Amino acid sequence: MKSAYIHIPFCKTICSYCDFCKVYANEKWINEYLSSLELEIKNKYKGEVLDTIYIGGGTPSCLNNNELKKLFSILNILKKSSDIEFTFECNIEDINIDKINILKNNNVNRISIGVQSFIKKNIEFLNRHHTKEEVFEKIELLKQNGFDNINIDLIYAIPFETLEDLEYDLDCFLELDIPHISTYSLIIEENTKLFIDKYEPISDELDYEMYKLINVKLSNYHHYEISNFAKIGYESKHNLTYWNNNLYYGFGLNAVGYDGINRYTNTKNLTKYLKNNWLQEKEEITFNQQIENAFILGFRKIDGINIEEFKNKYNLDLNNNQIVNKLIKQGRLVKEGNFIKIKEEYIYTSNNILIEFIEVNYE
Ligand code: SF4
Repeated sequence: MKSAYIHIPFCKTICSYCDFCKVYANEKWINEYLSSLELEIKNKYKGEVLDTIYIGGGTPSCLNNNELKKLFSILNILKKSSDIEFTFECNIEDINIDKINILKNNNVNRISIGVQSFIKKNIEFLNRHHTKEEVFEKIELLKQNGFDNINIDLIYAIPFETLEDLEYDLDCFLELDIPHISTYSLIIEENTKLFIDKYEPISDELDYEMYKLINVKLSNYHHYEISNFAKIGYESKHNLTYWNNNLYYGFGLNAVGYDGINRYTNTKNLTKYLKNNWLQEKEEITFNQQIENAFILGFRKIDGINIEEFKNKYNLDLNNNQIVNKLIKQGRLVKEGNFIKIKEEYIYTSNNILIEFIEVNYE
């Protein structure tokens, strides 16, 4: 196992679109949570040297300085490779020089920030609490203090959002000149404030126009996964672990891990987690499911699936795979060098292609 995801589920406020696993931040729970997390890691970690660690949430940055120090002292159990990618998720309003120093002193070298939009009405609609000026100021502070590997998350397809609004958001991102952006089309999930308030998604046509606009505006970036763009060399190693169907630990509330045989999901129930009943379910991944996942995750990458690596890993030659060959004939997949990928014009509707790989016998 070369990667670990660590979930910190606490948030100070709840965003209107959020259906992630989170709870309101509260000092007593945070302390108990960190103790339980420590036990979970000690219990599961087998001592491998890790190439990537990702601390996500929730809002890990809402922990106060002492809580953060406690978190990192727990994570000292994990052995880190000398070129580790160590990501920490932040909200803009939490970033200050003290926290930056704590992150720096603990080997964090990548910051992922939930900006979502630079436009006041969007930020308010999403129930987030920063201003555009604050984003610029905090990112400058991070850069001045040695953090050059920064991602921002951007949400588009917000009800009432126009193409001009999106263009403004993308221009702000380009002006920031940071190396990574993840773009997400807003999904109005059940049990969110937006759903309860009966907001409707934007039209499919406008969503597609927005997707195309993003591709045009970010054409100087490497579009390496459906939703992700990076300057060359700044592609997220941690997320590539998932898309390459590799193994990873998941620690924390509702975290998911995959050890090559089983996929396990931790409980969503904080009370159970605090009593050290971490596990919710463990599912054995059959060979067929492994291959299904390898296709579904692998084709999220714009450069596609490496034929040789696929053969070495699963003993399956994609050159002789009937579905792959059928889709190549139909012009929906394309072979380029040692890679097979989805043709550019079908990426937006890639689910129609991925479905072809489900419930097939690969044995
Ligand atoms: S900060 Fe993230 S996890 Fe917390 S409520 Fe907002 S979207 Fe959800």
